[in-house]
Amino acid sequence: MAEIVVIGAGVAGLAAAYHAGQAGYEVKVFEARERWGGLLDHFTVEDFRFDHGVHFAFSSNDQFRALLGRTDYLTHKPEPYNYDRGRWLKHPVQNNLYPLPVADKIEAIKSFLERPPQTDTHNHYRQWLVQQFGEVITTRFPARYTEKYWTVSAEKLSTEWVGDRFYCPSLDEVLLGAMSDRTPQTYYLREMLYPRCGGFRAFLDPLIPGLDLQLNSKVVRIDTEKRYVELGNGKREYYNLLVSSVPLPELISILNFTPVSVSEAAASLWATSAALVSLGFARPEAGEHLWFYIYDRDICASRAHAPYRKAPENAPSGHSSLQFEIYYSRHKALPSSPEGLVEQVIAAAEAMQLAPRSAVKVADYRILPYANVVFDLGMTAKRDHALEFVRKCGIIPVGRFGLWDYLWSDQSYLSGSRITERFHML
Ligand SMILES: Cc1cc2nc3c(=O)[nH]c(=O)nc-3n(C[C@H](O)[C@H](O)[C@H](O)COP(=O)(O)OP(=O)(O)OC[C@H]3O[C@@H](n4cnc5c(N)ncnc54)[C@H](O)[C@@H]3O)c2cc1C
Repeated sequence: MAEIVVIGAGVAGLAAAYHAGQAGYEVKVFEARERWGGLLDHFTVEDFRFDHGVHFAFSSNDQFRALLGRTDYLTHKPEPYNYDRGRWLKHPVQNNLYPLPVADKIEAIKSFLERPPQTDTHNHYRQWLVQQFGEVITTRFPARYTEKYWTVSAEKLSTEWVGDRFYCPSLDEVLLGAMSDRTPQTYYLREMLYPRCGGFRAFLDPLIPGLDLQLNSKVVRIDTEKRYVELGNGKREYYNLLVSSVPLPELISILNFTPVSVSEAAASLWATSAALVSLGFARPEAGEHLWFYIYDRDICASRAHAPYRKAPENAPSGHSSLQFEIYYSRHKALPSSPEGLVEQVIAAAEAMQLAPRSAVKVADYRILPYANVVFDLGMTAKRDHALEFVRKCGIIPVGRFGLWDYLWSDQSYLSGSRITERFHML
């Protein structure tokens, strides 16, 4: 019997366990995988370290920044780029159209001027995009990217996830960015942090000492009346308080009882998965950019980054590395086999003049089953219905997939650390 059981040793579960432990409670963490860290974990292939996708740390929250401050880190300026048919545009494209042919820029600016008036409510994400940027920019850039990254068209999405992720420029800014490449940085973050050694996961190291953390321990059933979790090997652990970072639809499916309306709501929720193709090169440079977005439809990856630029320690001396993210879901299958995707990415890296095929030293392929929860129209009402039931069962859902939200690592951490507000339930 543990006072508090936490399911999942990603940043959300670890934060909950750490803060409960600091408050003197007896806590047990069960993690399905053989390693802790969840999405913030990494893997190594012949001395090349790769995170699970881009991963930088940023936060305005003091508690999270204090955690980051316990690790030696490097600071990067966020200067992403966009690749479109052989051209590299600064990010965001809407106020950095400079590299485009003049005729394309005229069309984009005319359409920006003719954009429909802003409204407070939107039928879908595409409508919002057109109101901000006009039809031409929308069609050429974010709508095309949406199909690659979110795996459905922008008409199918709501805007509840958008927040401050997009820069909405004035006419002057669009004009300046079309005429000059000397534009101010307008990305929504000012700096991004990354551990000097040990990959992104090193930021979580301070949470681990003293934790009762059981790896290879997948929770397969939860009895919320008798208050126990059951592991794959049949072992039961009784609890007073249960914290779960299990993806919400999976959590619902392992509860001892669920009303039909809740099962139906949970079954309608879906997330994208990501196939990661990670390449290590026997040469010191691979392209010029820390991370970039790829708009071309005939390149399967939507985003890529350079792990060796995040921290030199991520690659052997004199070597470089890139990781490409290819998204798929129940609405869009992967375009090829694992070998086919690796081959496509190596060919794309060469075509984009990032690195020649002859320099590839290691190539790795792996899957992230849960990448981004998808805000298709009507999703949040169904999610909230499922969450309400989970909370009624006395479970505290945390994290990106436990809360089924588009959370960054700091928000996932905070969702776990807020367990301190729930101690009255004990
Ligand atoms: C490609 C990509 C790039 C990102 N880039 C950034 C970035 O640059 N900056 C940033 O701040 N955030 C970024 N994020 C978001 C960040 O990764 C997440 O917010 C955070 O890692 C989520 O942590 P979590 O603990 O909620 O979930 P997870 O990391 O998914 O952890 C959940 C854990 O629960 C375990 N688990 C699940 N079911 C069970 C079960 N039944 N029994 C036992 N264990 C179970 C899983 O194995 C996993 O370890 C990115 C996300 C992705 C996908």
